[in-house]
Amino acid sequence: MSRHYIIPIFVPHFGCPHDCVFCNQKRITGLSTNVTPREVEKTIEEYLATFKPDSFIEVAFYGGSFTAIDIDIQKKLLEVPYNYKKAGKINNIRLSTRPDAIDDIILDNLKKYSVDTIELGVQSLDEKVLYASGRGHTSEDVYRAAKLIKKYGFNLGLQMMIGLPEDTLEKDLHTCKEFIKLKPSCVRVYPTLVIKDTFLEKLYLRKKYKPLSLNEAIDISSLLLMLFNLEDIEVIRMGLQPTENIQMGKDVVAGPFHPAFRQLVEANIFRILLEYFIKYKGISTEGKELIIEANNKNVSAIAGQKSSNINYFIKKYKFNKIKIYPKEIGRNIINVIIEENSKVMDIKLFTKAYLKDNLIID
Ligand code: SF4
Repeated sequence: MSRHYIIPIFVPHFGCPHDCVFCNQKRITGLSTNVTPREVEKTIEEYLATFKPDSFIEVAFYGGSFTAIDIDIQKKLLEVPYNYKKAGKINNIRLSTRPDAIDDIILDNLKKYSVDTIELGVQSLDEKVLYASGRGHTSEDVYRAAKLIKKYGFNLGLQMMIGLPEDTLEKDLHTCKEFIKLKPSCVRVYPTLVIKDTFLEKLYLRKKYKPLSLNEAIDISSLLLMLFNLEDIEVIRMGLQPTENIQMGKDVVAGPFHPAFRQLVEANIFRILLEYFIKYKGISTEGKELIIEANNKNVSAIAGQKSSNINYFIKKYKFNKIKIYPKEIGRNIINVIIEENSKVMDIKLFTKAYLKDNLIID
């Protein structure tokens, strides 16, 4: 298998009986959706025509809360990818839903249609945050649903948000650590954005809600990504995907939106760790040339967007010059060379030491 392709199918859920403050889902009664099986088939066909052979192909039902839709509609929609999977034309089926829309009947049905991965929109494991965000479920619902999903043998995905009303860094760290205990196969982290036509927009305009700044969101997300990386839990997305409408000034009214949010977080982590490494090793820096050798995939994150990390280190530590070279070494290793004095930095080891030093972990 060479490439991993996703066929996204957006299922607006007209019947969502909830009022999450950050969501602009229009409330219309009836457990319905406007997506039809015919459209699902058409979307799959269109995508399949563009994929290279021998790829890993996943059909993903996104948006809304799939398992809160009427079960007969769920069956009709699922039947389409199920038949493609049976025919060997796709490999996996995934969907996202709410923690309180999971029970034995629902999971039995998803097994029957050969669903592989269920992602739970958790957002927070703090009761006050859940309540203030109008989620309409408790943390207990999350633990119950996550355990049941794993008991049935599905891959579990967990989504969290930072910067919700009543949220704090401590609460985000708590949610992250609880996620780790639930051993998900993947995680998504979304900084809260103020979207047009939401209750959050009203709160924001009345000055009753203050979104995180971009820097605050990067700092919090950096700690979360370090914690997940340490436990080898794959973070498959950080930050809302920019679309035609998800742009500042369009549907995004305020909040820490950046089209390359994850890259900013990854660059920030390398800045934190390199700085920690320099201090920890007592490396003298002034007027010296710093050479960094790293796996090709880490090079641009180490340099930072528009060389922001390079500029930061030159300014703060007065390096004469900084060069970063790709090298065939593992992604977990960086060679830090100052005046022929080479030191190996084990990223995981230094992540752990940094988090311990800052009392994030014991
Ligand atoms: S976030 Fe999900 S559960 Fe909340 S209102 Fe929107 S669709 Fe409904």
